[in-house]
Amino acid sequence: MTGRLQGKSALVTGSARGIGRAFAEAYVREGATVAIADIDFERASQTAAEIGEQAYPVLLDVTEQASIDAAVKAVEDRTGGIDILVNNAALFDLAPIVEITRESYDRLFSINVAGSLFTLQAVAKSMIARGKGGKIVNMASQAGRRGEALVAIYCATKAAIISLTQSAGLDLIKHGINVNAIAPGVVDGEHWDGVDALFARYEHRPIGEKKRLVGEAVPFGRMGRAEDLTGMAIFLATAEADYIVAQTYNVDGGNWMS
Ligand code: NAD
Repeated sequence: MTGRLQGKSALVTGSARGIGRAFAEAYVREGATVAIADIDFERASQTAAEIGEQAYPVLLDVTEQASIDAAVKAVEDRTGGIDILVNNAALFDLAPIVEITRESYDRLFSINVAGSLFTLQAVAKSMIARGKGGKIVNMASQAGRRGEALVAIYCATKAAIISLTQSAGLDLIKHGINVNAIAPGVVDGEHWDGVDALFARYEHRPIGEKKRLVGEAVPFGRMGRAEDLTGMAIFLATAEADYIVAQTYNVDGGNWMS
């Protein structure tokens, strides 16, 4: 199916690579125009050029209010308004509880939680002023469903995203804005190469072993791929999801149940 998002304007944060990029590509295939909004502007520009003329790069640092406001304005100026936001930019870190630093805590909460909240806020204001409603998709994680040894801060940020999705979803539906979230399990890509390297350091494993083990543990039989998530990302951005409010959906190959 194509054309389900024909004429829509989407802003996907952290879409220079990984899952965000896959969502941007999927939205373009469905007819949307997509802002590839990322702190890595060079990579965002390259990604937008590779996707095609319906994608364009926008510099965005979700930790800076002025940058969020400028990115929202850039999308409004280019397309007349924002129909879809995907709050996807996030960072990961790993440490035993006794080695967690305030610097790591502040960095992850600033990007994963405050970054998502204030981007959502700026886009919601824009959507309310325009009066056409909208769709907001937050990126949660199985890490937000349950804690995990070594992953305390990241897990806490993703639990906060599930909670934020509920609060914002209930608050904004009166404006015709649906806020929902996707909770993936483990998704292969550049991000997971970094995660694997961190586990190798803290669990004294050879590089690649953690990735192999987590893949084998997924009931589906392998790690997720970014493309496994795009169906849900499209659905939540369409009118078919109008009556879905404040939900977080597992798209994880059965990881949640294992
Ligand atoms: P990734 O690290 O590949 O991509 C993250 C993107 O965010 C990068 O392009 C990066 O430049 C950008 N970014 C970082 N800081 C930013 C900032 N301050 N402002 C704007 N952009 C910034 O990550 P991914 O694997 O594609 O994950 C995407 C989302 O999915 C994240 O929210 C992540 O927590 C979530 N998730 C990932 C997995 C997984 O296994 N990969 C699992 C569950 C949830």
